[in-house]
Amino acid sequence: MSHTEVVTRIAPSPTGYMHIGTARTALFNWLFARKHGGTFLLRVEDTDRARSTPEATEAIYRGMTWLGLDWDGDTVSQFARADRHAEVAHQMLADGAAYKCFSTQDEIAAFREAARAEGRSTLFRSPWRDADPATHPDAPFAIRVKAPQEGATVIKDKVQGDVTIQNSELDDMICLRSDGTPTYMLAVVVDDHDMGITHVIRGDDHLANAARQMSVYNAMGWDVPVWAHIPLIHGPDGKKLSKRHGALGVEEYQAMGYPAAAMRNYLARLGWSHGDDEFFTDAQARDWFDLDGIGRSPARFDLKKLENLSGQHMAVADDAALVAEIEAYLAASGQQELSDHQRNGLESAMYCLKGGAKSFGQLVDKARFVLKSRPMEPDEKSAKALDDVSRGILQQLTPHLQNASWNRDLLEEVVAQVAEQNGTKMGKLAQPLRAVLAGRTVSPSVFDMMMVLGREETLLRIQDVTGT
Ligand code: GLU
Repeated sequence: MSHTEVVTRIAPSPTGYMHIGTARTALFNWLFARKHGGTFLLRVEDTDRARSTPEATEAIYRGMTWLGLDWDGDTVSQFARADRHAEVAHQMLADGAAYKCFSTQDEIAAFREAARAEGRSTLFRSPWRDADPATHPDAPFAIRVKAPQEGATVIKDKVQGDVTIQNSELDDMICLRSDGTPTYMLAVVVDDHDMGITHVIRGDDHLANAARQMSVYNAMGWDVPVWAHIPLIHGPDGKKLSKRHGALGVEEYQAMGYPAAAMRNYLARLGWSHGDDEFFTDAQARDWFDLDGIGRSPARFDLKKLENLSGQHMAVADDAALVAEIEAYLAASGQQELSDHQRNGLESAMYCLKGGAKSFGQLVDKARFVLKSRPMEPDEKSAKALDDVSRGILQQLTPHLQNASWNRDLLEEVVAQVAEQNGTKMGKLAQPLRAVLAGRTVSPSVFDMMMVLGREETLLRIQDVTGT
């Protein structure tokens, strides 16, 4: 591997839904790798067997796939690498950088209690750190790394700056438990090293871990990656994001009908900025993304902004791609699949649907005229426009529509003419036409609907109401 190559990773713990904070961290790592022509890896941190589930792993794959965050190569399972983690622990032991600790849980608890009573630090100081191996009992032991006790550890962080932690606050963390299983803290370092990770971009809740993990890097003589600890996401009230602020799982946002491109755009802006740019494409994000643009204070989640971006991304999206994404949204939100007929209709109507909607749900609502088949069954509000007078005008309109060339401008002329003949405005005729064609008061313009539906279907829908 060349020195300039960038390798990043996302390392989620599969213990529930995929949190949007994880999605944002994944996005930052993905953007950074893609920008530098580097590699982006996925490691599932399934070391905690009691909390890890296959369903949660599946949710991570689905979330990443929905967001289009493609990772390179095979997924790495942390648990599957347990032997390698143990090997490193034993290597540190052999090198004298780690030691066997025979302290039992009870002894550690007693140490802490005494420390508390005496007002000392409760950080466990193992009596085995400097013990003569000749005094070692024949008993199970944990392997602890020797952390420095004097001086300070400095984390050179790309977001937080130099963060100094007094070594008196560092414990000799356990790397291998007495049952031979590696700890998460060891596994992270070994995996990051073996996977060649050059940049660790992750939540700042891991900042304190970085100082502890440094002991393992130093013990093994490994290069420390570039750290970038990003502030966590807060709710609109400035408090740490929680369920009470609304949805936390990535998949919930897919089910709410936001396009993945908008979600990427929104998540990128959550903690990172490029001047005043709010709306940007994937290509721009890749071009612009850098660690300097990550802010030091927590970003606040704002659903309104996501909705606005959602509308803007839909408006510029490719029609066929939108249809495909809407189908995925319908499946994700447990709604009915589209028939071939509906899919084709939706695509041909997309040009007049995609502006103005802020979610796929709103777009699908607006698409009723093309998704539902006759009879249109107008709802109460739209049916108000269908009184005897308007039915009469619709009847008059029929022969004109039978003969008109099916072209938007001409249709407008024809409708305007018939309206005029009846001493009314075109706008007045639009209401009953809307009721007839869409069965709703909210729809695309009547002329767009006529163009999409075609002459025959338009006339049939009018006939359904006029009866002739
Ligand atoms: N598994 C950790 C988490 O889900 C991430 C650890 C890391 O990025 O180093 O929070």
